[in-house]
Amino acid sequence: MNYDVVVSGAGPAGSKCAEVIAKAGYKVALIEKDINYRKPCGGGLPRDSIYKYYPQLRKLDLVKKNAILMFSADHHKLEHSYEYSEDNPIVIDRLEFDNLARNVAIEAGAELFDKNVSYDFIYKGQKRVGIRTKTPLGVKEYLANIIIIADGMNSKLANKSGLRGKWKPLEIGIGKVEILEGQNNLNERCTYFFFKEYGYNWIFPIDKQKFNIGSITYYENNLKYNLNNLFKEFLHEVRNKNLLLEKDYKVIWSASFPEPATGVLEKSLYGDNIILIGDAAGFVAPISGEGIHGAIVSGQVAGETSIGAIEKEDFTVNSLKEFKKHPKIRKIIRMFKFQHKFVNFIYENEGENLNKAFKMAEESSEFKKIIINTFIFGQTPPKDFISQIKGMN
Ligand SMILES: Cc1cc2nc3c(=O)[nH]c(=O)nc-3n(C[C@H](O)[C@H](O)[C@H](O)COP(=O)(O)OP(=O)(O)OC[C@H]3O[C@@H](n4cnc5c(N)ncnc54)[C@H](O)[C@@H]3O)c2cc1C
Repeated sequence: MNYDVVVSGAGPAGSKCAEVIAKAGYKVALIEKDINYRKPCGGGLPRDSIYKYYPQLRKLDLVKKNAILMFSADHHKLEHSYEYSEDNPIVIDRLEFDNLARNVAIEAGAELFDKNVSYDFIYKGQKRVGIRTKTPLGVKEYLANIIIIADGMNSKLANKSGLRGKWKPLEIGIGKVEILEGQNNLNERCTYFFFKEYGYNWIFPIDKQKFNIGSITYYENNLKYNLNNLFKEFLHEVRNKNLLLEKDYKVIWSASFPEPATGVLEKSLYGDNIILIGDAAGFVAPISGEGIHGAIVSGQVAGETSIGAIEKEDFTVNSLKEFKKHPKIRKIIRMFKFQHKFVNFIYENEGENLNKAFKMAEESSEFKKIIINTFIFGQTPPKDFISQIKGMN
């Protein structure tokens, strides 16, 4: 089958990319291993710009958040509430969100191929001309001028592309996440964060009964700690805080998964007729672990870059480098570089700097605002933020 573009992976990155290309009238194949797969994720969509990319979200009956509660490892507590608005952050079940994004791509004209596991490139001489997938009916081939790799962290194609290698434990976060259902004392308009020396835990209420709950470790802590034990300890802690009431909640879903944590792999983003986007290319904010936004933005820019290449009939590295030059991509790369530096600092000395930062936030409302924006909304803190924390006794 011949396409202008083949996109491997119909998560937020791949679906947005396919939508943009199809909308421009080009032929795009969107390859997905399983549309019933629920990506392990907190499902937190903290940015109001999400409604710009997916206005369809407004029609869903999702609880809008207007409060945040954060705890440091040494139990400093930060509370923040903000005005209620239609554009406030939301928490969504990823199965619901991914299928919404796929349907938007299909409505724009993309062809979705489910139950296709992409595993290799097709070559003509030295040139990559498409991808091969395994399906219940055997191997399938999709030929295209441009190949977009959007099939996540563990992408087989990204590993085979020659653009990047596999992630090492010291470059990632590993999260355990569950959706639980039952009686609780959570405020459904609030999101809860519990920072620790190894990473953090969260509770994101979905509605009155259901909530997404998880634990994540980072870098060397991936090897030092047992994630399942941390998760159990966390459940114990929130029961003691009287936030969770039941001994045994109904487990709707449970999974563990890694996420990139060092920022965008800026040297691995494109090659001749290939672009890497979303988690496959490290578009995850190193502090907050927020990756849906980066996936969507990189998907949109890769879509626009592909359209430019099709119109010029130039699919070489020289043409596709426009992806990395785009102001939105440059901004994300810059932000994540600083955030990575910051996150290394914050978890130094068993999280001592993190505790200091929370203590300062307790004492200064200005500092509190910076902490919230940095940790929750993926914003970059001011340059002197590190020196201010260092200077604190
Ligand atoms: C525990 C945890 C919690 C998180 N919480 C949040 C959060 O609250 N908010 C937030 O913004 N981000 C969060 N993230 C990050 C977020 O989940 C990712 O950054 C985001 O899903 C990346 O989107 P993507 O489209 O690049 O990749 P993915 O969402 O991984 O999508 C890849 C798609 O490709 C498909 N696929 C995979 N392999 C193949 C193959 N071989 N062939 C065909 N298809 C394939 C998959 O089925 C999937 O549909 C979290 C991550 C983790 C691990």
